[in-house]
Amino acid sequence: MKKDSKWKATIGLEIHAELNTKTKMFCACKNDPDEKRPNINICPICLAHPGTLPVINKEAVKSILKIGLAIGGKLADFSEFDRKNYFYPDIPKGYQISQYKYPLVSGGELLGFKITRVHLEEDTARSSHDVGDFSLVDFNRSGVPLMELVTEPVFHSATEVSKFGIELQHLLQYLGVAKANMEKGEMRLEANVSVSEDEKLGTKVEVKNLNSFRSAERAVNYEIERQIELLEKGEKVIQETRGWDDKKQATFSQRSKEDSQDYRYFPDPDLPKLKLSEIHDLNESALRKELKETPKEKRERLKKDYDLKDSDIDFYISNVNLGDIFESAASFITSKKSFQTLSNFVVSDIASLGEEGFSIDGKRLASLISMFIENKVSSRGAKDIILKMTKSKKEPLAIAEESGLLQKSDEGELTKVAEKIISDNEAVVSEYKNGKISALQFLVGQGMKATSGSANPQVLRAIFEKLLN
Ligand code: ADP
Ligand code: ZN
Ligand code: MG
Repeated sequence: MKKDSKWKATIGLEIHAELNTKTKMFCACKNDPDEKRPNINICPICLAHPGTLPVINKEAVKSILKIGLAIGGKLADFSEFDRKNYFYPDIPKGYQISQYKYPLVSGGELLGFKITRVHLEEDTARSSHDVGDFSLVDFNRSGVPLMELVTEPVFHSATEVSKFGIELQHLLQYLGVAKANMEKGEMRLEANVSVSEDEKLGTKVEVKNLNSFRSAERAVNYEIERQIELLEKGEKVIQETRGWDDKKQATFSQRSKEDSQDYRYFPDPDLPKLKLSEIHDLNESALRKELKETPKEKRERLKKDYDLKDSDIDFYISNVNLGDIFESAASFITSKKSFQTLSNFVVSDIASLGEEGFSIDGKRLASLISMFIENKVSSRGAKDIILKMTKSKKEPLAIAEESGLLQKSDEGELTKVAEKIISDNEAVVSEYKNGKISALQFLVGQGMKATSGSANPQVLRAIFEKLLN
C-alpha cells in the first residue's frame, strides 16, 4: 500500500497449533503427526466408531491454560467442549469437538496486539487427492490436540502480522507446548483482511493455506491491493474465503459467504463440563509454578543483565542455542563492558559457523574474549581461533601460541623494531615531523610487516609517537 494512501487495511488472525502432548486429545493413541506410515496411531475413538467415549486429555488443557497465563489472558473457571457439525471425509464423526461459548482463555495480548480468545479443539484427519483417481484418508492426525487462537482486528500491515506470528511461534516453543513448525503444518495461520477509508471496518475476506510467514506477508499484501483496486473501481469486496496460491503468488476464491454453513454448535454430551478451579493442578498458582520463561521475559532479562543491542537480543530470541552460548560465556565474565564485545563475536563469527559453532563452550569463549580485550589477539586472530576451537578442545591461549596469533605487546621488543624502521625511512619520518600525520600510519604498517602481523598495532603506534615526538 502506498504511504499516502487514503485506505486503511485491517487484519485479524486465526492461528492453529498442534500441541505436542504424548497422546491425542480424546483417546490414548500416540500423538505423532509426523508418522509417515498412514493409519498407525489410530483407535475406535479417533476413527469415530459409534458407541465410543472420548476422554479429555488433561495435558492439552494445561497447555492452553499456560498459553493463557503467558499472554495475560483470563483463564476460564467454567469451560466446556462443543460439537461443530459439518460433513467432510477427514472428520468422520460428522462434527469436530471444539469450544464455542466457553473457551479456556479469553483476552490477553502479545507484543501489544489484542487477543480475543484461545481455545482447545481436535485436529482432523489428513486427506490426499493427488495419488490416483481416488482419495486417501490418513487418521494419524485425527484427534491431535489443537490450539486455536483468535486475535482482534488489530493489525494494519503484513509486517505486523508476521511479527506477531513469529512471536507466538517462539512463545509456544519456549513454553514447550508445541513445535509450531509452519512448514510441517504444526502451526497454521488464517488472515482476515479488510480495507476501509474511515474508522468503520470494511468487508473482510478470510485467506487460508498460509504455510510460512513469508506467504502470510505476501498474501496479506496481495489481498490489501486487490481490495483497494476493487474499491477504487467503485466495486464491492465480497465476503468470502480465499486460498493463497504460492506458485501464482495470488489469492483465489474458495467459497463465498452464501455457501458458509451453520455449524449448529452445541455442548458435547459425551464430555464432562470443567470447573477448572476445582481441578487441583489446573489452578492458576499451580500452573504459574510450571510456567517457563517467555520470549518477552527473556528479552527483558537480557537487556537488564547484559545491556545488549536490541538486534542482538532479538537474534538470541530466535537462535536459542547461540543465546545459551552467549549466556554461558557471560557467566565467566565480570566486566559489564565486555558483554557487548562477547555478543558481537557470537552473533557474527560463531553464528556463521552454523551447528559446528555450538561445540564452543562458554568458558573457553570467555577466555578468548578476555585475550581480545587485553589486546593479546587481534579481531582477525580471534576469528581464526574461534574456528580452531570448533575442531579442538584446546584453550584459546594454546591455540594462539601454536598458530602465531598472539599479538606482541612487549614494549622493549617493539621499540627495537620501531627504531630500525625509523632509521630505514628517513624521508617518511621527516614528512611526519613536518606535519603529515598519515605518514605515521605508513610506519606502523612497516612495523606490522616486520613482525609478520604479530605486533599489537595500538602498542606499536604509541611507541612510534613516543620516539618521534
Ligand atoms: P466470523 O464470525 O466470521 O468468524 P469473527 O468476528 O469471529 O468473524 O472474527 C474472525 C476473525 O476475523 C478475527 O480474527 C477478527 O479479528 C477478524 N475480523 C473480524 N472482522 C474483521 C474485519 N472487518 N477486518 C479484518 N478482520 C476482521
Ligand atoms: Zn485414537
Ligand atoms: Mg468466529
